[in-house]
Amino acid sequence: MINLTLTEALKKLNNGEISAVELTRDYLDRIEKYGADLNCYITVTPERAMADAAASDARRAAGAALPLDGLPIAMKDLFATRGIRTTAASKMLENFVPEYESTVSQNLINAGTVLLGKVNLDEFAMGTFSKTSFFGAPINPWQMEKRLTAGGSSGGSTSAVAGGLAIAATGTDTGGSIRFPAAITGMVGMKPTYGLCSRWGCIAYASSLDTPGPIARTVDDAALMLAAMAGHDEKDSTSAKNGFKCNGPLEAILGNGKKLRVGVIKEFANVEISDDMKTLFEKRIADLKSLGAEIVEVSIPNILDALAAYYIIAPAEASSNLARYDGMRYGLRVEGNDIYDTFDKSRAAGFGDEVKRRMIIGTAVLSSESYDVYFMQAARVRRLISDAFNAAFKKCDLIVCPSSAGTAMSLASDLKPLEYYALDLFTVAMNLVGIPACSVPCGLAQNGLPLGMQVIGARFDDMRVLQLAKHIESAANIDNRPTTIMGK
Ligand code: GLN
Repeated sequence: MINLTLTEALKKLNNGEISAVELTRDYLDRIEKYGADLNCYITVTPERAMADAAASDARRAAGAALPLDGLPIAMKDLFATRGIRTTAASKMLENFVPEYESTVSQNLINAGTVLLGKVNLDEFAMGTFSKTSFFGAPINPWQMEKRLTAGGSSGGSTSAVAGGLAIAATGTDTGGSIRFPAAITGMVGMKPTYGLCSRWGCIAYASSLDTPGPIARTVDDAALMLAAMAGHDEKDSTSAKNGFKCNGPLEAILGNGKKLRVGVIKEFANVEISDDMKTLFEKRIADLKSLGAEIVEVSIPNILDALAAYYIIAPAEASSNLARYDGMRYGLRVEGNDIYDTFDKSRAAGFGDEVKRRMIIGTAVLSSESYDVYFMQAARVRRLISDAFNAAFKKCDLIVCPSSAGTAMSLASDLKPLEYYALDLFTVAMNLVGIPACSVPCGLAQNGLPLGMQVIGARFDDMRVLQLAKHIESAANIDNRPTTIMGK
């Protein structure tokens, strides 16, 4: 049953071919068997899962099935779950059990999903390989013997879904954390428009950028997940009024006579990417053309500065958001000689190196000497990029670009902080602007590993982003079940 996509499983549940209890048991068995190898779960919740599944079967039997009733999912361990440990993969929150439920996880409960557990990530979602996790890095299910990264920060989510240890998962994307891990594990990762999914109860990294979204095996699956996760929320002041509706397979937008203009970003043309990425990207563009899309070049003049702006703005917001972990109210406390000493000792012991580095950078760029030259300058770059995207969407309907320069790297690669940051080149601009972007598999590289490309849209054009992604998915037509673990 683990070979079923979410869409297929939902159909079989609805026509009575399978039950939620059977499906959930299958997934729990898989987690038992492979969970430790992949290190994708921080906390597994088998009793909760079986109870959810039984309740789901009862609802369906009573003719009151909910939209995603009985589908076993994994929750990034950044979403607060009532009564279930929520760690943000930090020692600081190793034993934190929230008394409240995040809006996104509550929405998924309301949609009838079954919670399998909480999945691994970079500490406080800061990172690119999920190596900053206090619980160790999750493993990419592709060519497992090579111990490749499943990406980050939502690396536990992609490891679990790609490895068949959850039918879909939640992720969050502040600078690429849904799209990059999805791309290098052959999954679909959708960063919706900022504000579409509530941030309430999602542990904050950089509030003006943090975007919850789904990670799934197919574009249709991601659309169904997004529809369940999204919705206006009074508890998040940046929550959008626009909803996202989808209750079945997405409709084609190409090949039915209508001209769709697809933009390609001029400034990305000179960025160094692998030969495979180049070839596959060009192939998929050719497919779109043959389906009737018109390819147009668009210019986002400052897009290569997005990285620098992001690595000022995100740490600045992080330094403010993470000030709350002081050892007083919740989280780790290490007693000191006085209250300040307790703050110091708790924070020194609770946070990992990368999180500390971000807080130091953030504090520095916000200091009175640096504010104008760093923070304000980054804010101006952000505005320029936003204006350029607005202008670009007058010349085209949607934009495409690679998700990463190459395939998954080894977890043993010893990159410098700046080398990790550079990997976010293709993803951070969309967070600065708040526009939707979906990473969809665009083919397999020569080494047999998957690559992804992004479809980007104007604000609230999430539906068309997914629709075009679906065209690319069918053109690429890869089998995204890694042979090492999906038992073929
Ligand atoms: N790699 C980026 C960072 O470390 C993105 C992380 C994210 O999107 N949460 O900030």
